[in-house]
Amino acid sequence: MPYLILSDLHANLEALTAVLADAAGRYDEVLCLGDVVGYGADPNAVTDWVRQHARQTVRGNHDKVAVGLETLEWFNPVAQSATLWTRSQLTPENAAWLAGLPRGPLPLNGFQLAHGSPVDEDAYLVEPEDAYVACQCAAVPVTFFGHSHLQGGFEIRGRRVLEIQRPLPRQAERVIEFQPGATYLINAGSVGQPRDRDPRAAYALYTPGEPRAVLRRVTYDVATAQAKIRRAGLPTLLADRLAEGR
Ligand code: ZN
Repeated sequence: MPYLILSDLHANLEALTAVLADAAGRYDEVLCLGDVVGYGADPNAVTDWVRQHARQTVRGNHDKVAVGLETLEWFNPVAQSATLWTRSQLTPENAAWLAGLPRGPLPLNGFQLAHGSPVDEDAYLVEPEDAYVACQCAAVPVTFFGHSHLQGGFEIRGRRVLEIQRPLPRQAERVIEFQPGATYLINAGSVGQPRDRDPRAAYALYTPGEPRAVLRRVTYDVATAQAKIRRAGLPTLLADRLAEGR
C-alpha cells in the first residue's frame, strides 16, 4: 500500500494540486508531516483537503503558531506577518483541527513521521551530526521528516552518515534503495515552498516493508500562487521566493 507523503504545504493550493495530479495512481493513502499553513494564500482550501484526505498528520511549527499554541515572537517579521494573516483567515473548524494535531514523532507500522527532528519537533535536521544523534534515538529504521524544506535526508550505516540526494533539476524522481542494516531519515521536501534551489513542488512515496522510497518533483503554476499571495497583501518576498525555490 503506497503512501503519498506530503510536508510543508504552506497553504499553496497550486503546488498541492500539481502534486496530486502527478501522484495520481501511485498511492492509496496520504500522510502529512505538518506545516499545512503559513506563507501561502490558501490556508483553508489546503487544510480542508488535508483534513479530508490525510490518514495521519503531525503538527508543524507554523500550524502551532497559526492557532496560538505557541507565540510568534521568535518568527522573523515576514513569518509573523504571514501568521497574523493566516489566523485571520482560518475557519474555526480548520483552526480547531490544526490545534488538535499530534506532536511528532508519530510511530506507524515500522516507520515514523516527524515534522523536524524525531528528537525535537521544532529542530532542523540538516547537519549529518544531528542526523546521527537522531538515528540513535529512532526505534524504527525509517523516519520521514520535513521542516527544512530541503528534500533528501540521510542514510546512516554504523557511524557513517551519507546524504541522500534529491532528484536533479531535469529528473522527475530519485529512488532511494535501502541497504540492509542501514537507518533512513528521509526529508520528503516541501510541497508549497521548496528551499533547495529547485522551485518544483516536492513529495515522497513509500510502501511499508519495501526496501525503497521515492522522491519526486513536479512543476506547478507558480505564477498563480504568487499572484494570490500579492493579492492577499502578504509580504511580496513570499511570492518572489517561490520562483527561485529558496
Ligand atoms: Zn515549513
